[in-house]
Amino acid sequence: MRRLLALAALSLGLAAAQAPGVLIIRFLDVGQGDAVLITSPEGKSILYDGGRSEPRLQALLRQYDVQSLDLVAASHADADHITGLIPAVTLFRPRFFLNNGVAGTTRVWDRLTAAVRKAGTQGLLARDQVINLGSVRITVLPPPPGMPRDEQNLNSVGLLVQYGTFRALMTGDSEIPETMAWLKKYPASALGPVDVYKSIHHGAANGDNPAWLKAVRPQNVVIGVGPNNYGHPTQQALSLYRQVGATVYRTDQQGTVTVVVQPGGKFAITTEKGGAVPANRGAVPGPATPVPVPSPATPVYSSCAQARAAGAAPLRRGQPGYNPALDRDGDGVACE
Ligand SMILES: [Zn+2]
Repeated sequence: MRRLLALAALSLGLAAAQAPGVLIIRFLDVGQGDAVLITSPEGKSILYDGGRSEPRLQALLRQYDVQSLDLVAASHADADHITGLIPAVTLFRPRFFLNNGVAGTTRVWDRLTAAVRKAGTQGLLARDQVINLGSVRITVLPPPPGMPRDEQNLNSVGLLVQYGTFRALMTGDSEIPETMAWLKKYPASALGPVDVYKSIHHGAANGDNPAWLKAVRPQNVVIGVGPNNYGHPTQQALSLYRQVGATVYRTDQQGTVTVVVQPGGKFAITTEKGGAVPANRGAVPGPATPVPVPSPATPVYSSCAQARAAGAAPLRRGQPGYNPALDRDGDGVACE
């Protein structure tokens, strides 16, 4: 994208060249819906979507000890993405509310915009721009021109997150016409490969498609999904992820999925309800993507602060991520 577009930059916190600590991305288990919390090593945070439940999102922000939010983003105005943004805005009064500029037609949208006004939060129309979240570079993928204005899904705002060599991509509920238009706009090399990818539209059949995934080349796919009547995630989507050799995580089965990225870009994935379940790994040989290990099953924490930040402490002997060096009293439980 850098090659194509002169991007305006918005800075949230100063970029620190040698920032200590880690980037943490949490795909929050909000039931059927999406909510992704991105926290930079400097403690700057973005909430990209908030799921469909206000109390649920509020409880998750408390559970993960969120102290501040600098920006909230709505991928689009559907209730399963924006409802939880209402308490997020009210509690944390973020500086910015990034959105697609297509007003919702629902009461929940009205309540969100009222909360935004009351909090003094500034609206930010998605356009070609980079957001510097501390030392994390976030490229906004605005809806391409020509999308029908009455289709929220087709006006989804995407975010490409980069930290060292690490790349994550999330594009809301963008359906095939939007991904096709993005493929015309961005060279495949600007999109992929990505280490962590949010499944489009909760694994619906009209989201991820072979041409798009061929460019994105995801190594790990996280599906934000809960009990639903839509058949999400669909067999079509799961089969596409299998075909590209991706490991699939589902919030309905594994709870909140946490990605911890070290300076440089090495990363580890842990899940709330136990170790990684590489459901689709290896069924079909995938493209030869370099694997920035540690592998998802073996997160490495060099300090208890890191383990705690990842929500992994305490760590018992035998658990992924247990490190005897952090078990000072040698009782088999590290970072108590
Ligand atoms: Zn949705």
